[in-house]
Amino acid sequence: MNEDELKKKLTPEQYHVLREKGTETPFTGKYLHETKKGTYTCLVCGNPLFPSDAKFESNISSLAGWPSFDQALPGAVKFEHDVSYGMDRSEVLCAKCGSHLGHVFEDSSAKTGKHYCLNSVCLDLKPEEGQP
Ligand SMILES: [Zn+2]
Repeated sequence: MNEDELKKKLTPEQYHVLREKGTETPFTGKYLHETKKGTYTCLVCGNPLFPSDAKFESNISSLAGWPSFDQALPGAVKFEHDVSYGMDRSEVLCAKCGSHLGHVFEDSSAKTGKHYCLNSVCLDLKPEEGQP
């Protein structure tokens, strides 16, 4: 799918976050408090990214406005050094299509020591079979 097709398929907010490395407004994401079991996939290419078991509620105020995960599926994401906005961060990208997903931080309160702070608009939850 080329960029023009993507622009038609996605909402302006989705396109901005996924393809122009934007950030959704904190506390607005549809998956922020999602508790359904399943697999979070890439909205653009369907690549399975994060298991629902890795999702957690964060108490860190600067990160609490977006869905938090402590682990990605093996090989699902890639990282890029991001020094935009005067911050030193690791950007998280879909390993398959290169879409922007969010950032990952060191976080001693997370089970794995890693805190993936992701945008809900980049994700599509595929619920496990047999759930309401
Ligand atoms: Zn993707």
